[in-house]
Amino acid sequence: MKLQDLGEFKLIDRIRRQVVDGAGVHRGIGDDAAVLSLPDGHHLLTSTDLLIEDVHFCLAWTDCESLGHKAVAVNLSDIAAMGGTPRYLYLGLACPKETDWDDINAFLKGALSEAARYNVTLVGGDTCRSPGPWMISVTVEGSAPAHQAIGRDGAQPGDLIMVSGTLGDSALALHLLRNGIEPEPELLARHHQPTAQVELGRLLGEQRLARSMIDISDGLANDLEHILQASQVDGQIEEGKLPLSECFRKHADTQPDLLGLALNGGEDYELLFTVAPEKAAEVAALCIKLSLPITAIGMIQAGSGILSLLDKSGAARPVLVRGYDHFCRS
Ligand code: ADP
Ligand code: MG
Repeated sequence: MKLQDLGEFKLIDRIRRQVVDGAGVHRGIGDDAAVLSLPDGHHLLTSTDLLIEDVHFCLAWTDCESLGHKAVAVNLSDIAAMGGTPRYLYLGLACPKETDWDDINAFLKGALSEAARYNVTLVGGDTCRSPGPWMISVTVEGSAPAHQAIGRDGAQPGDLIMVSGTLGDSALALHLLRNGIEPEPELLARHHQPTAQVELGRLLGEQRLARSMIDISDGLANDLEHILQASQVDGQIEEGKLPLSECFRKHADTQPDLLGLALNGGEDYELLFTVAPEKAAEVAALCIKLSLPITAIGMIQAGSGILSLLDKSGAARPVLVRGYDHFCRS
């Protein structure tokens, strides 16, 4: 059935019926505003992301269920990057009136299952007709104990720079798709169904291990530069230490240029954080507990926001940051 035959209010009702209210929800979908509570002594964390068809995704390359998954995962990643716990979700949805309910239903399935995985409840949103592209706005609210949220501005000289998972897989998948080459399933999954490091973020916050943190959405270099500038420190990373998946290495072995994607490619949704050296052992223990690779890739130094890269020959050079910018580097 098409949305023009279903109508806005039946659509909202179908969304509402798929939601199971979770902890802290006094009123969810169906009133003028949601009524929610937070654990005592917590501050509210809020983050919003927009996803526009043909800017962030192409319906020819992704299925609607993966799109729903990704729309939620990228938001959860922002709460993780503050060391918080995600709790509530809002969904703004604009689609052409000819859109099939089955596509919306698949989108919801992806979005709601990703939210449920972390006990996050959909509590509201807005629905309208779009004259053309799909537009999706996802807002997530979470919380962290008062004054414990981890910002981008806490890095200190001597901190180790650490990153979870592997870098560049999502950007490599996109690069292959753009060149008409079918990426390996593991690369495609990194692009279409990224994993937000929700548990790692929460534990780094709870155990007060990270002094600064950001999630990598615009590329390692770009996002690390945000930490360096916010903290007014320099950072040096070592090319040979960047964590790469086996699949990524295989491609880079035949095409060394692709290594740039580990530095500047976007949408890894890994956590990038800095840790006082005396806390490194506790981070290593987390890495085992979560069965997640965490790699020290460099060090914070006194300075004013400059990032440099130590290449494999041992020479250091400033990094030209080339991550995604919607208005001047697209
Ligand atoms: P209003 O006229 O006040 O904007 P709506 O009719 O748009 O109210 O929404 C009614 C209820 O449905 C509200 O609780 C709103 O948050 C919820 N809602 C609307 N669209 C969505 C959506 N896409 N996802 C989740 N909840 C939605
Ligand atoms: Mg509305």
